[in-house]
Amino acid sequence: MNLLIMGLPGAGKGTQAAKIVEQFQVAHISTGDMFRAAMANQTEMGVLAKSYIDKGELVPDDVTNGIVKERLAQDDIKEKGFLLDGFPRTIEQAHALDQILVDLGLDLEGVINIVVDPSCLLERLSGRIIHRETGETYHKVFNPPADYKEEDYYQREDDKPETVKRRLDVNIAQGEPILAHYRAKGLVHDIEGNQDINDVFKDIQEVLENLK
Ligand code: ADP
Ligand code: AMP
Repeated sequence: MNLLIMGLPGAGKGTQAAKIVEQFQVAHISTGDMFRAAMANQTEMGVLAKSYIDKGELVPDDVTNGIVKERLAQDDIKEKGFLLDGFPRTIEQAHALDQILVDLGLDLEGVINIVVDPSCLLERLSGRIIHRETGETYHKVFNPPADYKEEDYYQREDDKPETVKRRLDVNIAQGEPILAHYRAKGLVHDIEGNQDINDVFKDIQEVLENLK
């Protein structure tokens, strides 16, 4: 299956992507994760990305489109399928993705759109913690790890309240045209994200079982 997962920052894309990948064995392609890995390794691209990410701004389209195309061109994708998470985030990226998929002979089969009330996102992002070793995402209150030790987890720099506000503004402004683009193609499945993590996954599973 070739899929996108969409939703505002904190909607639960990464959390649900991990479950989808485990159950359906597709390749998880998260542009945010790719940028964070590049930042940790202090590559040229990582240093450039950091200058945008720390301000809550989007990394320029040419850089982002380039890393997505490179990843989608790898051998495992035709066989496993993919789940793109955090891309596209501008309408220009959506158009670039259309062309990348044509060039690579791939078809998009569905867009999972996790819908949440923006008022709950600050609480979700300010409590988000990430396991240093595995990169798995948890929440201090909503999804606490079983054996929580503070030193084993970190909080994202861009989850600070002042950066979150900018990120939400940017993503709300850019998101609607992208959804309209995919709605016109009949690909969008809206999922209620204001429910327990496992219930969100049940709804996603139902959609994906029908796409298989
Ligand atoms: P995104 O990838 O869309 O930015 P995440 O999957 O990282 O979002 O989720 C943001 C935070 O909210 C994390 O701390 C996660 O554990 C928590 N979370 C995810 N889904 C839910 C949910 N349905 N209810 C409550 N908290 C959630
Ligand atoms: P995420 O992990 O998806 O919340 O992304 C973290 C940050 O990485 C975003 O706030 C952006 O600065 C950057 N980023 C991730 N994906 C994209 C994208 N598709 N286009 C531009 N910037 C992106």
